[in-house]
Amino acid sequence: MRKFVIMGVQGSGKGTQSAMLSADFDLVHIAVGDIFRWHVQNHTKLGAQVRRIMAAGELVGDDLVERVVRDRLEQHDWNYGFIIDGFPRNGRQAEFFLESYDIDGVIYLDLPDSEVRRRVLSRRLCSRCGMDYNLIAHRPKAEGRCDVCGGALVTREDDTEEALAARLRDFHEKTNPVLDLFRRKEYVFVVDARPGKETVQRAIRERLGLCGSAESLSAESMSTGSMSTGSITTGSANAGSAGAGSAGAGSAGAGSAG
Ligand code: AMP
Repeated sequence: MRKFVIMGVQGSGKGTQSAMLSADFDLVHIAVGDIFRWHVQNHTKLGAQVRRIMAAGELVGDDLVERVVRDRLEQHDWNYGFIIDGFPRNGRQAEFFLESYDIDGVIYLDLPDSEVRRRVLSRRLCSRCGMDYNLIAHRPKAEGRCDVCGGALVTREDDTEEALAARLRDFHEKTNPVLDLFRRKEYVFVVDARPGKETVQRAIRERLGLCGSAESLSAESMSTGSMSTGSITTGSANAGSAGAGSAGAGSAGAGSAG
């Protein structure tokens, strides 16, 4: 059983890299932001509580986040382990997590703020199937339309200059102390997030010592990572579960937009 945390600023590729790892190692990908997005899109009570906070790029309160994470992990559908993305994001969340779960490693995707802005502001998402696009690196064939289903491409509500500035500020203020805490336990594997997704994935596998697999990205893992926010595509599969839709968390093919 392997339990990993993946950290990195918005746009560093957490969702993509988690989905690629999940595909080859049967890990359940738990993306906390996707769970919240699923609730917002499905107009649940929890969605109503977090919608404005998310749109402003602020962090949801710790009690609520911890409840969602606890409920999700208590589903125990992660026989071979999990990779959790977007959590913990501050010292208190990290302490909660470390008290409850042993972890095998923290993958930190390192990306300079200038590159974050470039990536995030060019990100688009299919409003119908959730496929992720980037107007720089992964343009749709027809402008504004999804290559897969023809749905309209939209910008994530929190991918604005203002919300991004707030998220970057929050990240540096609150998430860096989390990294320091994990570093003291020697859990942290820093990976340069600037290269292409396969190169980053190989580096992650090498750093984690995943069984000679640095060279062997499966076709499945290479084709994942562009499907975004399971909130749209797979959230409903978990809609009835404990009030915390897993939002694609369990499905190897559903990366998040991180
Ligand atoms: P993400 O997709 O990880 O960027 O998360 C989207 C939004 O969900 C964040 O901007 C927060 O509003 C909320 N969120 C996700 N994870 C957390 C967390 N661990 N703590 C607080 N808020 C979170």
